Amino acid sequence: MLRIERMHCGYGGFEAVHGISFEVTSGEIFALLGPNGAGKTSTIMAIAGHVRIFAGKILYNEIDLTSVPTSQRIKHGIALAPEGRRLFPDLTVDENLQIGGYTRTQTENTANRERILSLFPRLKERFQQQAGSLSGGEQQMLAIGRALMSQPKLLIIDELSLGLMPKIIDDIYRAISSLKSDGMTILLVEQNTHRALGVADSVCVLESGRVAWQGTSADARQDVNLLETYLGISQQTGISKYP
Ligand code: ATP
Repeated sequence: MLRIERMHCGYGGFEAVHGISFEVTSGEIFALLGPNGAGKTSTIMAIAGHVRIFAGKILYNEIDLTSVPTSQRIKHGIALAPEGRRLFPDLTVDENLQIGGYTRTQTENTANRERILSLFPRLKERFQQQAGSLSGGEQQMLAIGRALMSQPKLLIIDELSLGLMPKIIDDIYRAISSLKSDGMTILLVEQNTHRALGVADSVCVLESGRVAWQGTSADARQDVNLLETYLGISQQTGISKYP
Protein backbone atom coordinates (compact mmCIF):
# COMPACT_ATOMS: atom_id res chain seq x y z
CA MET A 1 0.00 0.00 0.00
CA LEU A 2 2.78 2.41 0.96
CA ARG A 3 6.31 2.13 -0.35
CA ILE A 4 9.10 4.41 0.77
CA GLU A 5 12.01 4.25 -1.66
CA ARG A 6 15.44 5.59 -0.71
CA MET A 7 13.84 8.65 0.87
CA HIS A 8 15.92 11.53 2.17
CA CYS A 9 14.06 14.28 4.04
CA GLY A 10 14.71 17.11 6.45
CA TYR A 11 14.43 20.74 7.34
CA GLY A 12 16.02 23.63 5.41
CA GLY A 13 19.55 22.46 4.70
CA PHE A 14 19.48 19.78 7.42
CA GLU A 15 18.93 16.16 6.37
CA ALA A 16 17.28 14.11 9.15
CA VAL A 17 16.60 10.91 7.18
CA HIS A 18 19.20 9.45 4.82
CA GLY A 19 17.79 7.21 2.12
CA ILE A 20 15.39 4.87 3.94
CA SER A 21 13.21 2.22 2.27
CA PHE A 22 10.35 0.20 3.71
CA GLU A 23 6.92 -1.05 2.71
CA VAL A 24 3.59 -1.07 4.56
CA THR A 25 1.12 -3.75 3.45
CA SER A 26 -2.61 -3.10 3.26
CA GLY A 27 -4.48 -4.13 6.42
CA GLU A 28 -1.47 -4.42 8.70
CA ILE A 29 -0.24 -2.58 11.77
CA PHE A 30 3.26 -1.33 11.04
CA ALA A 31 5.46 0.04 13.84
CA LEU A 32 8.26 2.52 13.27
CA LEU A 33 10.60 2.26 16.25
CA GLY A 34 13.99 3.54 17.36
CA PRO A 35 15.69 5.86 19.83
CA ASN A 36 15.12 9.60 20.24
CA GLY A 37 16.18 11.60 17.22
CA ALA A 38 16.26 8.55 14.92
CA GLY A 39 14.04 10.25 12.35
CA LYS A 40 10.69 8.55 13.05
CA THR A 41 8.62 11.74 13.26
CA SER A 42 10.42 13.25 10.27
CA THR A 43 9.57 10.13 8.24
CA ILE A 44 5.86 10.15 8.98
CA MET A 45 5.65 13.92 8.59
CA ALA A 46 7.19 13.45 5.13
CA ILE A 47 4.56 10.80 4.34
CA ALA A 48 1.80 13.20 5.46
CA GLY A 49 3.35 16.01 3.42
CA HIS A 50 4.62 18.27 6.22
CA VAL A 51 8.36 17.68 5.83
CA ARG A 52 10.34 18.26 2.66
CA ILE A 53 11.62 15.26 0.70
CA PHE A 54 15.12 15.88 -0.70
CA ALA A 55 15.39 12.67 -2.75
CA GLY A 56 13.69 9.31 -3.20
CA LYS A 57 9.99 8.50 -3.49
CA ILE A 58 6.83 7.83 -1.53
CA LEU A 59 4.48 5.55 -3.44
CA TYR A 60 0.94 5.04 -2.18
CA ASN A 61 -1.05 2.43 -4.06
CA GLU A 62 1.47 3.05 -6.86
CA ILE A 63 0.69 6.80 -6.94
CA ASP A 64 3.83 8.88 -6.50
CA LEU A 65 2.99 11.16 -3.55
CA THR A 66 6.36 12.86 -3.43
CA SER A 67 5.11 16.21 -4.71
CA VAL A 68 1.40 15.83 -3.86
CA PRO A 69 0.18 18.54 -1.40
CA THR A 70 -0.99 17.53 2.09
CA SER A 71 -4.66 18.29 1.40
CA GLN A 72 -4.61 15.92 -1.58
CA ARG A 73 -2.97 13.19 0.50
CA ILE A 74 -5.92 13.42 2.92
CA LYS A 75 -8.28 12.95 -0.05
CA HIS A 76 -6.24 9.90 -1.09
CA GLY A 77 -7.00 8.42 2.36
CA ILE A 78 -3.96 9.25 4.48
CA ALA A 79 -4.60 10.78 7.92
CA LEU A 80 -2.21 11.72 10.72
CA ALA A 81 -2.66 12.01 14.49
CA PRO A 82 0.47 14.11 15.09
CA GLU A 83 2.89 14.29 17.99
CA GLY A 84 1.60 16.81 20.53
CA ARG A 85 -1.95 16.21 19.20
CA ARG A 86 -2.33 19.75 17.74
CA LEU A 87 -5.97 20.04 18.79
CA PHE A 88 -7.90 23.31 18.86
CA PRO A 89 -7.98 23.74 22.67
CA ASP A 90 -10.80 26.32 22.78
CA LEU A 91 -13.07 24.23 20.58
CA THR A 92 -15.18 21.36 21.88
CA VAL A 93 -14.70 17.66 21.18
CA ASP A 94 -17.58 17.90 18.70
CA GLU A 95 -16.04 20.90 16.90
CA ASN A 96 -12.58 19.32 16.69
CA LEU A 97 -14.17 16.22 15.14
CA GLN A 98 -16.12 18.36 12.67
CA ILE A 99 -12.85 19.95 11.49
CA GLY A 100 -11.41 16.48 10.84
CA GLY A 101 -14.37 15.70 8.59
CA TYR A 102 -14.06 18.68 6.26
CA THR A 103 -13.41 16.50 3.20
CA ARG A 104 -16.51 14.35 3.83
CA THR A 105 -20.26 14.79 3.38
CA GLN A 106 -22.60 15.42 6.31
CA THR A 107 -23.99 11.88 6.06
CA GLU A 108 -20.49 10.41 6.12
CA ASN A 109 -19.52 12.65 9.05
CA THR A 110 -22.54 11.51 11.08
CA ALA A 111 -21.68 7.84 10.54
CA ASN A 112 -17.95 8.37 11.17
CA ARG A 113 -18.65 10.31 14.37
CA GLU A 114 -20.87 7.49 15.67
CA ARG A 115 -18.12 4.95 15.02
CA ILE A 116 -15.49 7.14 16.75
CA LEU A 117 -17.69 7.72 19.80
CA SER A 118 -18.31 3.98 20.08
CA LEU A 119 -14.53 3.36 19.88
CA PHE A 120 -13.85 6.04 22.48
CA PRO A 121 -16.85 6.32 24.85
CA ARG A 122 -14.90 8.85 26.96
CA LEU A 123 -15.21 11.30 24.07
CA LYS A 124 -18.96 10.74 23.99
CA GLU A 125 -19.22 11.66 27.67
CA ARG A 126 -17.19 14.82 26.99
CA PHE A 127 -18.71 15.73 23.66
CA GLN A 128 -19.33 19.42 24.47
CA GLN A 129 -16.19 19.87 26.60
CA GLN A 130 -13.33 22.06 25.36
CA ALA A 131 -10.43 20.02 24.03
CA GLY A 132 -7.94 21.98 26.15
CA SER A 133 -9.62 20.76 29.35
CA LEU A 134 -9.39 17.05 28.44
CA SER A 135 -6.81 14.77 30.06
CA GLY A 136 -3.76 13.78 28.02
CA GLY A 137 -5.27 10.40 27.20
CA GLU A 138 -8.59 11.91 26.14
CA GLN A 139 -6.72 14.40 23.96
CA GLN A 140 -4.89 11.54 22.26
CA MET A 141 -8.25 9.80 21.66
CA LEU A 142 -9.58 13.03 20.18
CA ALA A 143 -6.51 13.47 17.95
CA ILE A 144 -7.02 9.93 16.64
CA GLY A 145 -10.77 10.54 16.34
CA ARG A 146 -10.19 13.74 14.37
CA ALA A 147 -7.89 11.85 11.97
CA LEU A 148 -10.54 9.12 11.62
CA MET A 149 -13.17 11.67 10.58
CA SER A 150 -11.51 11.84 7.15
CA GLN A 151 -12.30 8.11 6.83
CA PRO A 152 -8.69 7.17 6.05
CA LYS A 153 -7.37 3.98 4.53
CA LEU A 154 -3.99 4.64 6.16
CA LEU A 155 -4.00 6.02 9.71
CA ILE A 156 -0.66 7.32 10.99
CA ILE A 157 -0.23 7.90 14.73
CA ASP A 158 2.86 9.55 16.22
CA GLU A 159 3.98 8.73 19.77
CA LEU A 160 0.80 6.82 20.50
CA SER A 161 1.34 6.18 24.21
CA LEU A 162 3.82 8.90 25.24
CA GLY A 163 3.00 10.17 28.73
CA LEU A 164 -0.26 8.22 29.06
CA MET A 165 -1.48 5.97 31.88
CA PRO A 166 -1.44 2.19 31.23
CA LYS A 167 -5.25 1.94 31.40
CA ILE A 168 -5.65 4.62 28.72
CA ILE A 169 -2.95 3.01 26.58
CA ASP A 170 -4.93 -0.26 26.81
CA ASP A 171 -8.09 1.53 25.66
CA ILE A 172 -6.32 3.13 22.70
CA TYR A 173 -4.63 -0.12 21.63
CA ARG A 174 -8.00 -1.87 21.84
CA ALA A 175 -9.42 0.76 19.48
CA ILE A 176 -6.45 0.31 17.12
CA SER A 177 -7.06 -3.45 16.97
CA SER A 178 -10.71 -2.82 16.24
CA LEU A 179 -9.79 -0.46 13.36
CA LYS A 180 -7.49 -3.12 11.98
CA SER A 181 -10.40 -5.60 12.06
CA ASP A 182 -12.35 -3.07 9.96
CA GLY A 183 -9.56 -3.34 7.34
CA MET A 184 -7.70 -0.12 8.12
CA THR A 185 -3.92 0.04 7.70
CA ILE A 186 -2.13 1.63 10.66
CA LEU A 187 1.38 3.08 10.86
CA LEU A 188 2.51 3.72 14.43
CA VAL A 189 5.46 5.57 15.86
CA GLU A 190 6.09 4.34 19.38
CA GLN A 191 8.63 4.75 22.16
CA ASN A 192 6.82 2.01 24.06
CA THR A 193 8.51 -0.90 22.31
CA HIS A 194 6.77 -3.62 24.35
CA ARG A 195 3.33 -2.37 23.39
CA ALA A 196 4.22 -1.86 19.75
CA LEU A 197 5.76 -5.31 19.36
CA GLY A 198 2.67 -6.78 21.02
CA VAL A 199 0.29 -5.43 18.39
CA ALA A 200 2.30 -4.80 15.21
CA ASP A 201 2.59 -7.18 12.26
CA SER A 202 5.72 -5.52 10.83
CA VAL A 203 8.46 -3.40 12.29
CA CYS A 204 11.06 -0.99 10.99
CA VAL A 205 13.72 0.28 13.37
CA LEU A 206 15.44 3.56 12.56
CA GLU A 207 18.68 4.83 13.99
CA SER A 208 20.40 8.10 13.10
CA GLY A 209 18.14 8.52 10.07
CA ARG A 210 18.83 5.06 8.61
CA VAL A 211 17.06 1.71 8.71
CA ALA A 212 18.77 -0.41 11.36
CA TRP A 213 16.41 -3.40 11.14
CA GLN A 214 13.17 -4.44 9.49
CA GLY A 215 11.04 -7.54 9.50
CA THR A 216 8.06 -9.09 11.21
CA SER A 217 7.16 -8.27 14.77
CA ALA A 218 7.43 -11.98 15.63
CA ASP A 219 11.05 -12.01 14.42
CA ALA A 220 11.80 -8.75 16.25
CA ARG A 221 10.63 -10.27 19.54
CA GLN A 222 13.12 -13.14 19.09
CA ASP A 223 16.10 -10.98 18.10
CA VAL A 224 18.06 -10.42 21.30
CA ASN A 225 20.63 -8.19 19.63
CA LEU A 226 17.92 -5.97 18.17
CA LEU A 227 16.03 -5.73 21.44
CA GLU A 228 19.11 -4.86 23.46
CA THR A 229 20.98 -2.68 21.00
CA TYR A 230 18.26 -0.60 19.41
CA LEU A 231 15.14 -0.99 21.46
CA GLY A 232 16.53 -0.75 24.98
CA ILE A 233 14.98 -3.99 26.18
CA SER A 234 17.08 -6.22 28.42
CA GLN A 235 16.22 -9.88 27.83
CA GLN A 236 17.21 -10.72 31.39
CA THR A 237 14.87 -8.26 33.02
CA GLY A 238 12.44 -7.75 30.15
CA ILE A 239 12.48 -4.10 31.13
CA SER A 240 12.59 -1.37 28.54
CA LYS A 241 14.43 1.83 29.28
CA TYR A 242 11.66 3.64 27.39
CA PRO A 243 8.51 4.61 29.31
P1 ATP B 1 11.78 11.46 19.02
O1 ATP B 1 11.38 10.08 19.38
O2 ATP B 1 12.68 12.10 20.00
O3 ATP B 1 10.62 12.34 18.59
P2 ATP B 1 12.37 10.88 16.24
O4 ATP B 1 12.92 9.54 15.95
O5 ATP B 1 10.94 11.11 15.96
O6 ATP B 1 12.73 11.29 17.72
P3 ATP B 1 12.83 13.24 14.65
O7 ATP B 1 11.92 14.06 15.52
O8 ATP B 1 12.36 12.88 13.30
O9 ATP B 1 13.27 11.91 15.41
O10 ATP B 1 14.23 14.00 14.54
C1 ATP B 1 15.26 13.57 13.65
C2 ATP B 1 16.29 14.67 13.57
O11 ATP B 1 15.70 15.82 12.94
C3 ATP B 1 16.82 15.13 14.92
O12 ATP B 1 18.18 15.39 14.78
C4 ATP B 1 16.05 16.43 15.16
O13 ATP B 1 16.79 17.34 15.94
C5 ATP B 1 15.84 16.97 13.75
N1 ATP B 1 14.63 17.78 13.65
C6 ATP B 1 13.38 17.39 13.99
N2 ATP B 1 12.50 18.39 13.76
C7 ATP B 1 13.22 19.43 13.26
C8 ATP B 1 12.90 20.76 12.81
N3 ATP B 1 11.63 21.20 12.83
N4 ATP B 1 13.91 21.54 12.38
C9 ATP B 1 15.19 21.08 12.34
N5 ATP B 1 15.57 19.85 12.73
C10 ATP B 1 14.60 19.03 13.19
